[in-house]
Amino acid sequence: MAGHGTETDTEAKPLAVRCQCGNASFPTPTAKPKILFYCHCTECQKQTSSAFGTSAIYTSDGLLPLSPDLAGRMKVFHRQTEKGRSMECYFCSECGSRMFHRIISADGKPRNTVSIKGGCIEGLEWNWSGSMHIFMRSAVIDIPAEFEQYETLPPWMKMD
Ligand SMILES: [Zn+2]
Ligand SMILES: [Zn+2]
Repeated sequence: MAGHGTETDTEAKPLAVRCQCGNASFPTPTAKPKILFYCHCTECQKQTSSAFGTSAIYTSDGLLPLSPDLAGRMKVFHRQTEKGRSMECYFCSECGSRMFHRIISADGKPRNTVSIKGGCIEGLEWNWSGSMHIFMRSAVIDIPAEFEQYETLPPWMKMD
């Protein structure tokens, strides 16, 4: 019994990811994302039809390859990105909610992470310390200075 209230982290459970209509759902691969981006790039503005996109980065283990059931409920939109890379964009085949993305390297190898769209993650902790605003050069709203933010990507991400 002692210390029960401090065990929250070790007992943290995956969260439910659900599209707008409920046709497609799956648990997050881990309880917490590795990092959470608020992305103000113009692609994310188009993708979300909104001011910015949200991407919670998780391992792809356990989600991809999709189970046959989930594969029957989702479709994939492919788009080219920069430097020969491409992106697989998974969305609900009924309501069209974008649910997650995976980057494919120029050599055809998929990354071992996925970017799950924050608005689909039920109970996501939005303001945790691992969140940051990126691609602020194309932001259409001001973000208060106390939030971590970058014109493009943080320097440690610019390796390739
Ligand atoms: Zn749906
Ligand atoms: Zn973006």
